[in-house]
Amino acid sequence: MKDLKHLKYFEDLLEDINNDLVRQAQAEGKLALGYTCFHAPEVLMNLDNCFSVRLRAPHTESLEMSTYYMANNSCEYARALLERAIEGSLSFLDAMIGVDVCEANNRAIENMEILKTQGEDKHNFFFSNLDIPYSDDEDCVLHLTEQVTRKILKPLHERYGVDISDAKVREAVALHNEVCRIITELAEYKKPELPSITGYEFHVITLCTYVCPKWLIIDKLRETLEEVKNRKPDSKKFYRVRVALVGSEIDDPNVIRLIEDAGAFVVVDRFCFGSLPGRQEIILNDEEDAVKQICRQNLMVTRCPRQCAKHCVDRRYDDVARLVKEFNADGAIYEQMKFCTYWSYERTMASHIMPEEYDVITLSIDRPYIVGNSGQLRTRIQAFVESLEIKKLHHKKEGK
Ligand code: SF4
Ligand code: SF4
Repeated sequence: MKDLKHLKYFEDLLEDINNDLVRQAQAEGKLALGYTCFHAPEVLMNLDNCFSVRLRAPHTESLEMSTYYMANNSCEYARALLERAIEGSLSFLDAMIGVDVCEANNRAIENMEILKTQGEDKHNFFFSNLDIPYSDDEDCVLHLTEQVTRKILKPLHERYGVDISDAKVREAVALHNEVCRIITELAEYKKPELPSITGYEFHVITLCTYVCPKWLIIDKLRETLEEVKNRKPDSKKFYRVRVALVGSEIDDPNVIRLIEDAGAFVVVDRFCFGSLPGRQEIILNDEEDAVKQICRQNLMVTRCPRQCAKHCVDRRYDDVARLVKEFNADGAIYEQMKFCTYWSYERTMASHIMPEEYDVITLSIDRPYIVGNSGQLRTRIQAFVESLEIKKLHHKKEGK
């Protein structure tokens, strides 16, 4: 396929968390709000003159300093963020919206607060730590609404004068929804046997929507969608099998590149920093307070394994099986950030439940934050690709 016109532009934006568009927005007087997890409703950090930056740590090499403050068997994603904060790379932020979701996330942000890693000139800077419920009933919705109102909206208004009115929330939802529609439509072009976008390209674009001010990137997104609509796919498949990738944080497109180079086209991105969930439109009615509706939707669409109510657990398996079918995937890869407790039990359970109860062949892997060019991971993916091909051959022989 012909290269996407803006791919290099999008890739460059991922080289640095404080990228050109973040700097441009701040030079225009906008406020950059850092956050780490889907459970902090992204759209509420994009009100009025604010924009959200979902934190990554590209090009991390050493975790030496963060490991002094956090256990060396704690999540490397969380440690990598702390490392960057200690180095001063997060001092551009105007607030840090933390979440009480896992011990590693908590410890990383708590240490940032204790070590005062925010810039010295950031007098109005604040840290917040949202308590996130484990289910999605109306009590949970009320609790999350109270948390985001008290810990995000109120300090934004009191410290920075941000307009947090219902009208502004709905305005932010409108732009958020346009981004979501573009990403969802782009995903459709992965469905055909000869797709017009690769999993790598899709992930690069999706990631940019999490780390750049949305109003500065929307034109390039619109243009890219038009380009993909008219793009001529390769006449031969560039992959051997199609897979759903399910799991914790993947904020490095090179992970997807490595999997696709091993022959597995990533057709479904059901992981943190992917489009499922995260890039579903937020549908608002006019009667109810918009913040409450956003909180309800966030709790309904999350597929995070910390949500331990029985119906949330069942919904996750059902959903992966549905996506495998919808995107015509041959199997699923469950990946877990090394030392992540939630995903360790989710992937262990899934490695039995998905093949035995849903007939979805599953590979289960854990990985370091920085995958680089891991030969071990490549070998495991290649072996999985072969096993999926063998199964397809059997099905063919049996006329399935
Ligand atoms: S795995 Fe769950 S808790 Fe962790 S970042 Fe993703 S959504 Fe948040
Ligand atoms: S990968 Fe797991 S341990 Fe790490 S921040 Fe996400 S939820 Fe927490």
